[in-house]
Amino acid sequence: MQEYKMLIDGKWVSAKSGKTRDITDPANGDLLAKVPESNSEDAKLAIEAARRAFDSGEWRKTSAQARGKLLFKVSQAIMNHFDKFVEMEVRDCGKPRREAEFDVTDAANCFEYYGGLATKIHGQTMQTPDGSVSLIVREPIGVCGQIVPWNYPLLMSCWKLAPALAAGNCLVLKPSELTPLSALELGKIFTEVGFPPGVVNIITGPGAGAGEELASNPLVDKVAFTGGTVTGKKVMENATHNIKNVTLELGGKNPILVFEDCNFESAVDWTLFAAFANQGEVCSAGSRLLVQKSIHRKFVDELVKRVPRIKLGHGLAEGVLMGPLVSAAHRDKVESYIKIGLAEGAKLLCGGKRPEGAEYAKGNFVEPTIFDHVTPNMRIAREEIFGPVLSVIPFETEEEAIALANDSEYGLAAGVFTSNLTRGHRVINQLRAGITWINNYHPTYNEMPWGGYKQSGIGRELGLFGIEAYLETKQINIWMDDNPIGWY
Ligand code: NDP
Repeated sequence: MQEYKMLIDGKWVSAKSGKTRDITDPANGDLLAKVPESNSEDAKLAIEAARRAFDSGEWRKTSAQARGKLLFKVSQAIMNHFDKFVEMEVRDCGKPRREAEFDVTDAANCFEYYGGLATKIHGQTMQTPDGSVSLIVREPIGVCGQIVPWNYPLLMSCWKLAPALAAGNCLVLKPSELTPLSALELGKIFTEVGFPPGVVNIITGPGAGAGEELASNPLVDKVAFTGGTVTGKKVMENATHNIKNVTLELGGKNPILVFEDCNFESAVDWTLFAAFANQGEVCSAGSRLLVQKSIHRKFVDELVKRVPRIKLGHGLAEGVLMGPLVSAAHRDKVESYIKIGLAEGAKLLCGGKRPEGAEYAKGNFVEPTIFDHVTPNMRIAREEIFGPVLSVIPFETEEEAIALANDSEYGLAAGVFTSNLTRGHRVINQLRAGITWINNYHPTYNEMPWGGYKQSGIGRELGLFGIEAYLETKQINIWMDDNPIGWY
């Protein structure tokens, strides 16, 4: 068991109240660590440190080359501590080792990508009608409050930190109160590689209090939030006080459209991956399977036949492919949706309960669950469950599939399976979602923009869009004639 402190102004500090929170392993309840339980007072100190660091100009005036090199060092340091980060992510949030390995690699790559982009921030010049010289320059926004959820603690932190730092901002990051460990370990790397004090501040503590302060404090210029849509709305409301720049990455109820002409084997495989990777605790999880009636029976039979291959257990144990849910409270929420699905009249094909056996007794496990004959108005077809629950809705025609897919308040992700690429394009072009796949599901690239339509969010992370989200735009007009203009 390790005791952690938070990173404020380059120093490792306890919460002012002295309070701590126990961090436990969701697979067995083991105590992993104690972390400071900050509140709005601690958040204010972190914000003020970031403000001082930004206003002093030291970081902003650090050359883009130097900033980029520091980001490369962070990338390298993450890889140097690869095993530690993998184990920490598995123990802290419950994911299987194979997935954590992917996350840590991707987190390091994210810093490398934005380290490279730091030197590629360019402005423009404009020809103006009166012959003056006009420049457009890009500048950091200032102090950023960054709030991340518990499902990809390290990766979500890196998606926010790397572009913000490449662009020259100073920031305060708040991981979820449930999974703060990898962000705190990352904090050690920032001090080791030589970031000036106050540029990166990392505070632990609950959303109500520390998180709200980041969203509402007038010294914060931008808030970047990833989490649920209900919380995102609160963040947006709080951010209005000083008209903050806001980026929101929110929830989804993402459709997978499987047509009768699909590559059957491949579509079955991807569908299981779409629904059950990371225990279904993925904003972009394919949680609504829309499958053409002509192959509906055969397709769901094959899904159900393969589900027993998904071995549940502690993510570090050999062969485990699905871990526990992040907390008992979250398991209760997922189980309440399973009850709702049964009460609504959906047909439970598999799962729907906790696995039996002594090894599962202390963990928050729920079996991979598939509901068939779901109708579009059922709550399990409309609301984000954020767990291993797949709702199957059959359809007859392409038009019907598109209408069903778009019948959601969310618009984060969607996948289409068909051997007819013309159809694939035609369908994808009509789907209202920001992240889409044809004949695959879930691959995510640091180079590609991430974010949703409708109530799945505002703005994009990753790729060139990700650095845009941390830049202001200034026009500079230079008059080229020394003579007075003689207006008055
Ligand atoms: P929450 O919305 O509950 O929390 C997200 C973060 O916000 C946490 O750090 C939380 O702190 C904090 N928070 C909570 N309340 C407030 C508040 N009033 N003001 C400011 N911050 C607050 O989401 P979960 O952590 O439960 O994560 C699951 C959700 O995240 C899902 O809906 C999922 O779809 C979404 N998500 C979206 C992604 C995307 O890219 N679109 C990616 C990953 C997840 P604390 O935990 O300490 O309460």
